[in-house]
Amino acid sequence: MVVVLDNNLAKKELENIKIKIEKLCNVEITECKGENYSILGLIGDTSTLDEKEINCMPGVEKVVHVQQPYKKANRMFNPKDTIIDVLGNKIGGKKLAIIAGPCSVESEEQIVKIAKDVKASGASFLRGGAYKPRTSPYSFQGLKSEGLELLKIARKEIGLPIVTEIMSSKLVEKFQEDVDIIQVGARNMQNFDLLKELGRIKKPILLKRGLSATIEELLMSAEYIMAEGNENIILCERGIRTFENYTRNTLDLSAIPAIKKLSHLPVIVDPSHAAGLWWMVEPLTKAAIAVGADGIIVEVHNDPENAKCDGGQSIKPKRFEKLMKDLKPIAMAVGREI
Ligand code: PEP
Ligand code: MN
Repeated sequence: MVVVLDNNLAKKELENIKIKIEKLCNVEITECKGENYSILGLIGDTSTLDEKEINCMPGVEKVVHVQQPYKKANRMFNPKDTIIDVLGNKIGGKKLAIIAGPCSVESEEQIVKIAKDVKASGASFLRGGAYKPRTSPYSFQGLKSEGLELLKIARKEIGLPIVTEIMSSKLVEKFQEDVDIIQVGARNMQNFDLLKELGRIKKPILLKRGLSATIEELLMSAEYIMAEGNENIILCERGIRTFENYTRNTLDLSAIPAIKKLSHLPVIVDPSHAAGLWWMVEPLTKAAIAVGADGIIVEVHNDPENAKCDGGQSIKPKRFEKLMKDLKPIAMAVGREI
């Protein structure tokens, strides 16, 4: 339930409303001040609350029932866009967040070189998998802790914050120390124990949409993290499974405006895993920015033919450089900067 308040409400009146609500039901109250009105979000069981008693209090404009099961992730509870600050780089504001790098970290030389190239072209974050969720147990599983160390070297040398995937709750403490944005991959979107653990830390979480997850399921997964206290979440549309098999997945572009309407959380697009084809990365990225994505996470590899993972969907640094230039007028047309 949401209580919409007059913005000129005196502090004392606001306190009275909160005291009254607390007396009538056992809920957590969140506050959000907008330009024209303020909001009190009530999270918990409001069945004992008599709406009329709140409605008639001075300063209350209206009481609105929230239909959706997600609360903290819901735009009704927080009408302003959330902006996540990662070491001074903002995600969700006017400037687009560009996360680029290889699917997996392969060597120090590889990750440092790619980091240098993508930074020079305008990326503000470096991606690279250390722990890889592979369909086959016989495929390359990532360099694991050694991969994390190499990412740290690249961060130190090149100065880009690092984004990498976590697969196990056992590693939360280590990732909290070493990583700037912790990625939850599509396959773990509904690993609720992992989500709860990540809710207890303060690190930004990049939550990717599950292969067959609805938008509401994605938002419920964000809610799991937020319910534990971590509200620093970036959502990611990375393609969903459909009957079409020409592409690896089907990029659900409509998810971007839908999520923007339903939630205040920033949302980015992964064109690489959506398409599975390197030559489709450029048009899909352009489309993603045009429909309002807050950024992209894109796979860039200096030697895709010999990449240990996802070479076929990785673009080379030169192509990434051109993509960054070509994106500028599109970003401008939708009121964004790159
Ligand atoms: C990845 O980003 O390397 C990855 C495995 O992505 P997803 O979880 O979207 O498949
Ligand atoms: Mn990949």
